Amino acid sequence: MSPKKVFPNARRLGIEIHKFGGASLADAAAFRRVVEIVKTRTAPRIVVVSAPAGVTDALLGLAKRAAAGDAESGAKEIDDLGTRYLEILRGAARRGTKEVAAEIARSMDELERLLSSLAVLKELTSRTRDFIVSRGERLSARLLTAALGAAGVRARYVDATEVIFTDGPFGGASPNLMLTDLAARKLLRPLCAAGIIPVVPGFIGAAKIDERDGDHGHEHAHDNDRRALGVATLGRGGTDLTATLLGRALSAKEISLWKDVPGLLTADPRVVPDARVIPQLHVREAAELAYFGAKVLHPRALIPVAGRSIPVFVRPFADATAAGTEISARRTLDRYPVKALSAVGGQALLTVAGNGMLGVPGIAARTFEALHLQGISVSLISQSSSEQSICFSVPEGAARRARDRLTEEFRDQIARGEIDGIDSRSGLATVAVVGIGMAGHLGIAARVFAALAEAKINIVAIAQGSSELNISFVVAAKDVGAAQRAVHGAFQLSKIGGGAAARAAHTDTVLLGFGQIGRALAKIMAQGQSGKNGKNGQDGKSARKSKLRLVAAIDRRGFVFDPNGLPPRVVAALSAAKEKGKSLAELPGGRAATPADALAALAEHALGDPILVDVTADESTPLIRQALGAGMDVVLANKRPISGPRAESEALLALAESAGRRLLTEATVGAGLPIFDTHRKLVESGDRVLKIEGCLSGTLGFVLTEVEKGRSFSAALGRAMELGYTEPDPRDDLSGVDVGRKALILGRLLAFAGEPADVAVESLVPAAMKALPREAFLARLADIDADWSRRAAAAKAKGATLRYVATVTKDRISVGLKVVDRASPFYGLKGTDNQVAFTTSRYRKNPLVITGPGAGPAVTAAGVLNDMLRVSG
Ligand code: ADP
Ligand code: ASP
Ligand code: MG
Repeated sequence: MSPKKVFPNARRLGIEIHKFGGASLADAAAFRRVVEIVKTRTAPRIVVVSAPAGVTDALLGLAKRAAAGDAESGAKEIDDLGTRYLEILRGAARRGTKEVAAEIARSMDELERLLSSLAVLKELTSRTRDFIVSRGERLSARLLTAALGAAGVRARYVDATEVIFTDGPFGGASPNLMLTDLAARKLLRPLCAAGIIPVVPGFIGAAKIDERDGDHGHEHAHDNDRRALGVATLGRGGTDLTATLLGRALSAKEISLWKDVPGLLTADPRVVPDARVIPQLHVREAAELAYFGAKVLHPRALIPVAGRSIPVFVRPFADATAAGTEISARRTLDRYPVKALSAVGGQALLTVAGNGMLGVPGIAARTFEALHLQGISVSLISQSSSEQSICFSVPEGAARRARDRLTEEFRDQIARGEIDGIDSRSGLATVAVVGIGMAGHLGIAARVFAALAEAKINIVAIAQGSSELNISFVVAAKDVGAAQRAVHGAFQLSKIGGGAAARAAHTDTVLLGFGQIGRALAKIMAQGQSGKNGKNGQDGKSARKSKLRLVAAIDRRGFVFDPNGLPPRVVAALSAAKEKGKSLAELPGGRAATPADALAALAEHALGDPILVDVTADESTPLIRQALGAGMDVVLANKRPISGPRAESEALLALAESAGRRLLTEATVGAGLPIFDTHRKLVESGDRVLKIEGCLSGTLGFVLTEVEKGRSFSAALGRAMELGYTEPDPRDDLSGVDVGRKALILGRLLAFAGEPADVAVESLVPAAMKALPREAFLARLADIDADWSRRAAAAKAKGATLRYVATVTKDRISVGLKVVDRASPFYGLKGTDNQVAFTTSRYRKNPLVITGPGAGPAVTAAGVLNDMLRVSG
């Protein structure tokens, strides 16, 4: 056999590398999709995989807690992790699973043992940490190998330590290109030539030889030990780098990075909603973006392919036929001197300044040398031309150390007054504006800074990279989103690629709360999704025509999630089980998690224009903040986040504003009635709203109209309870607290500056009955019947009736029982209907009145749906 046949020319083999990221490996369905994608390709290919979404974080968390002495609390989590892998295995491979199942069990056992010894040692070295997290990718690759095998594809697991070699250090190792090239070629080429698909775990490689042997010094270590002790990670997101390393070694025809985004976008879609897919960009541009924080690529992922003609594609996992983004040596899109933006948060800016620096040689060199020796990386440097200061950014966590070190370094100069001192400012972020065409264009920087000035954003520091394909600036962390949106707009990046929008085909909806309203909403959405016209014809229709898609529901104990949309059948089953009192965590496909963890897990996926819909009645403000921060629009049915302390609700609105997200609240006051909408239209048309009055409680409306008809108060309330109108304890309705909250929300529309305690609320629960247990209260209800009948009769005698009314002006809010006569719009109100009357400059004599059903899950869901449709546009 000629050597040529054993090592056929890789070019001729035309190998493709396919890398699947964590978001593309979240569950069994995702693994099945990976198998499909791999199967439909025909070229020889190598597959590189990440750990399933969230696994690396979970492992890191476990290690950290164990090293802090807590090994117990991890047991359940290890169990869950093992179960998650097993479930994926069962769902993704029909046969050949036994061996992998045993491997999963072995790996979890080992993990448990490792963690208990960490808890004893109370020490976590980066070497051990790397070994712990390496199982995320390794199991993932084993599992995919089995799944491919079960689907009739010839695949073989190849451990990364056999093909990726590094120079250390643990925790963020640099690849050794030469060793990797040699080993990968030797091992993988023959497999590819034989039509076998190697499946390689990403993110890890063999540690540097001396580090690996280190204190252990195994001379003839067993293969497994060698792998255990000698594995180093390439830094977070390192699977991208594994893919390009292998692509380089095998002179691949192309490298595909399958991700949960339509491609490399002009900006992080969670920050800039109208970010677009860039059809093609130069490898230097992409490298610059990655280096400056674009989370989509590992910072050093493109180094291995620099100068080689191996195109890298960022491809959407959700749509295997879409073009995605080509990263290559071509130059296209010349009309766009700026192509994309990226940002790094958590930065601090250090300044070395002083009059005496002028002309003193070597200050800059000493500064950066000192930091280099401390292992602190500097990402942006700007030196003022007068040489009176050097300013540079470092990660916030390293700021203190950098400052101390430099103060020491320049002790003499500081003592002599040549240097004033080392100044440090944290809470900053760096934004990089990237485009290879900038070099040939005048005035790019001016446009960037004009856009920032217009958006009233203060720039803390500026630097233009020497490469001239990057202008970076530093702003306060709170401004980083607005800054990116301003620059994105100024360069019209939302038009890149000839207008092919990156806007998602769907508006992915996450339900926070799966109670009555949540389920009603899920049902309407499911009808829309299946295209069936439900009984609720109209709503079904509007949801069907829209892009709304329900992807997740979260309750107090867990969540369910399907990035492709929860199928109607599943929604129906979940609703039925939930109605019986089960929590989502216990249901098929459900995962146990706190709402905050659930949201964090969802935020790992690039959902399409995601909306969080809060249909709880909880104190959910922290979750709403988290959602806004993760790039979600928010629709509230829950009153609490905007009816608490004034500072809190104002801060929430400001946060939404600064994050460029919408926070819609229509359903908080009149369920489906267009109250906010009407208010907005009045104001927009130049009118001034002077007063808002309303009957805002369906329950109280029902009870009072029943009493008006001659029914006893206790019977009316009993009936309301039977019909499901009341809260479990009807005193929650009778106390007026709920109406008070609604009134406060309306008051804030009119610039009412008070606090919840400033709302005058008249309770309909007699003082003596407030503290009774619920049952005792209900038993004694009849005691107050006579009193109510008397009041109703007295009103009637005057040609009037009783209503529970909220009266809201800019200066005063009161909520209570009123005797209203025929002249009042509230007089004719029936049953659970709500009514709101706007008195304005134009509608001064005859207020503008809106009436309609104002309570019940179905109408509230409809109100929420209206807001959702507004968001999804
Ligand atoms: P992987 O699953 O391959 O590890 P990542 O999660 O690392 O993928 O990268 C994809 C994520 O990067 C997306 O979910 C998106 O939110 C984020 N992202 C940030 N900036 C960009 C950008 N400019 N283009 C595309 N995605 C971006
Ligand atoms: N699983 C690793 C991480 O989360 C590596 C990767 O996904 O690329 O960082
Ligand atoms: Mg990644």
